[in-house]
Amino acid sequence: MAPVQISEVKGNSRENRTAAHSHIKGLGLRPDGYAEKTSNGFVGQTAAREACGVVVDLIRAKKMSGRAVLLAGGPGTGKTALALAVSQELGTKVPFCPIVGSEVYSTEVKKTEALMENFRRAIGLRVRETKEVYEGEVTELTPEEAENPLGSYGRTISHLLITLKSARGTKKLRLDPSIYEAIQKEQVRLGDVIYIEANTGAVKRVGRSDAYATEFDLEAEEYVPIPKGDVHKKKEVVQDVTLHDLDVANARPQGGQDIMSMMGQLMKPKKTEITEKLRAEINKVVQKYIDQNVAELIPGVLFIDEVHMLDLECFTYLNRALESSISPIVILASNRGLCPIRGADNSLPPSAHGIPPDLLARLLIVPTHPYAPDEVRSIISTRAKTEGLSVEERALEKVSELGVRVSLRYALQLLTPASVLASVGGRKEVQVADVEECEGLFLDARRSAGVLSEDSGFIS
Ligand code: ATP
Repeated sequence: MAPVQISEVKGNSRENRTAAHSHIKGLGLRPDGYAEKTSNGFVGQTAAREACGVVVDLIRAKKMSGRAVLLAGGPGTGKTALALAVSQELGTKVPFCPIVGSEVYSTEVKKTEALMENFRRAIGLRVRETKEVYEGEVTELTPEEAENPLGSYGRTISHLLITLKSARGTKKLRLDPSIYEAIQKEQVRLGDVIYIEANTGAVKRVGRSDAYATEFDLEAEEYVPIPKGDVHKKKEVVQDVTLHDLDVANARPQGGQDIMSMMGQLMKPKKTEITEKLRAEINKVVQKYIDQNVAELIPGVLFIDEVHMLDLECFTYLNRALESSISPIVILASNRGLCPIRGADNSLPPSAHGIPPDLLARLLIVPTHPYAPDEVRSIISTRAKTEGLSVEERALEKVSELGVRVSLRYALQLLTPASVLASVGGRKEVQVADVEECEGLFLDARRSAGVLSEDSGFIS
């Protein structure tokens, strides 16, 4: 049997979509529901944050079914950041699935199919299982252990030698290859506390011990921990996956229908089509495990930016999906005012944000407003800190000025290239000259459009 992966399922490239918001840690509200001016990485936009706080309360009170939220405001006013913060307020490991309206259009997948896929990405499943595990702190081998070819797992350890360089010197370690593979997947580091499942050798990282919190570089192979002082115990192991993970993992013929063999499929990368029948099957099994208290649904947040790009067919689908008993929280965003509804014939007049009236009626609409110059400056400086950049005072002023005059997005985008220029020039701090050089190298949208109009002889 393939070993069951107990590790957290790592997201795909979608993680990159939230990288720009890594400074956001929540809505930053006080216990009375009012927003601190600056808190949890958030700066300003207090009314919208407070409104989102009420939404979080509604979700907790299970009063959001059949409803959705619309964040309406100009570009770069923090709509994505607010939606992410709502998911963070709902708890750790609550899925956040951000998409852009135009993403549903592809030649390969039907629009509604693409929407359905993202709905399922935004619904988490927490599986709890009691397992036989070895518990051990990851530490260095004693010389005797290093010499002993038999591990305390009761199986032969092949002579896999790995060099580990830590602050305390270099060690050569031996490891059971199957455990080694599992450990690599979990990215276990020195000082981590891990569990190793007795039967399958699957590894779960459960914490860190400060005593060993030294960073280390690996010379030969990747992550190399060794469990020491193993205790054979029964432990509750928790795994968080999304319904979409299960769909993908099981979209191929395989053995058991029990939850753990469904989980086991997560390790196999080959992808085939996910059919409606398969989803129905997965739902059935999931329901069974929910009934048996083995698993619990964790509705997350599906964030659809530029919602005016969806068409009538998608809106109809959304309306229906919101009614479903396993719907995630849907947060829409738009920076458009009154505009035509895509895919509607001329009989339908333009509508607010290009959303049909029947869906509009179900929305809690939260406006977001442009930032004052001091807020722009504060957001930029928060971002610089989060990215670990050191920016000279005057350079920060310059970036902030661009944030006000051009756009917040543009200014934030310049931070990293400016820091690259600084380090190429041998400077630790980003200086005004670096920012100015970047401004010359990279155009903002308006200047870019202007250049093309000039080149082609058009007057813009
Ligand atoms: P768009 O309409 O272009 O999608 P948006 O309204 O979703 O924009 P965001 O992407 O959330 O805007 O914001 C742009 C950047 O500014 C992000 O890095 C975001 O984290 C940051 N940001 C926006 N508002 C705030 C805020 N109030 N506090 C801290 N950071 C913010």
